[in-house]
Amino acid sequence: MSFNGLIKGLHHVTATVNDAQEDVDFFTKVLGQRLVKETVNFDNERVYHFYYGNEIGSPSTIFTTFPYKDQGVKQGIIGNGQVYESVFSAPGNSMDFWRMRLASKGLSVKEETRFGKEFLLFEDPSGLKLSIVEDEDDTREPVWVTKDVAEEHAIRGIHSVVLAVKNVEETVSFLIDFGYQIKLEESPYTLLETKEKGAGNSLMVLDGKHLPSGVNGLGTVHHVAHRVDSIDDSIKIKETLESEYDIQVTEVKDRKYFKSIYFRIPGNVLFEVATSGPGFLVDESNEELGTSLKLPDWQEVRREQIEKNLEPYER
Ligand code: ZN
Repeated sequence: MSFNGLIKGLHHVTATVNDAQEDVDFFTKVLGQRLVKETVNFDNERVYHFYYGNEIGSPSTIFTTFPYKDQGVKQGIIGNGQVYESVFSAPGNSMDFWRMRLASKGLSVKEETRFGKEFLLFEDPSGLKLSIVEDEDDTREPVWVTKDVAEEHAIRGIHSVVLAVKNVEETVSFLIDFGYQIKLEESPYTLLETKEKGAGNSLMVLDGKHLPSGVNGLGTVHHVAHRVDSIDDSIKIKETLESEYDIQVTEVKDRKYFKSIYFRIPGNVLFEVATSGPGFLVDESNEELGTSLKLPDWQEVRREQIEKNLEPYER
């Protein structure tokens, strides 16, 4: 109870992927998301940082990628201590549409029933495990409506993430303190949600006893971010984690579009807590979102050099 309901739900998921062009094509043209921001990895300016989301990249709709091709990063291993799968939310009656659409793009699609719901499982070009589930209660605006993904089928945002861990009990107990409550249990999954409930505010913990340990690299999720209203809330969370849980937390990092802290939970998954604001409209208008490389002030001074090191791609 020590986190006092400060965690509202999910903010974004960030993955390490392979090729920039393949990534943009997959998320915008196959999944129909909007590229809301093109910037660079603030910790490695030779690598793009792409943010995909709904029209303005609202918290809980954002999926972000670092395309690390040709940077000496190997294919990772998806396993324990990681986000094992990222689940997107689609409106009711859209499973047939997505099943056919994904297959028509050459993707291999599997189906699995969890908690009485059908999940379409597939992979992105770098091997990330993704899925789509119908959620007729998801009231968020569609991510983005494109010429071949109509509003009635358009993805609403991130539904949930699956955390693979060896120590389910300890992880679930931490998540309950953190602000999630158990909604359903169906081995090997435990479904949890925050007080705000439902899509965008949910997690599944997967019992990973039979899985390998996750290794960071291409085709793996790097971290999952949870949203808070303000930086004061993040600081309260940092203090609680350090004093009551003996968990080390980073200093507050300015990510320009939000402010963040990072730490590992007992199941070893890297968590971020990010502020809902200021959002993606701080440096370009709605119409311009994602149409040119944006850099924070401290990198703007080296723009020419930074652009030279980035592989061009087509939107
Ligand atoms: Zn992040």
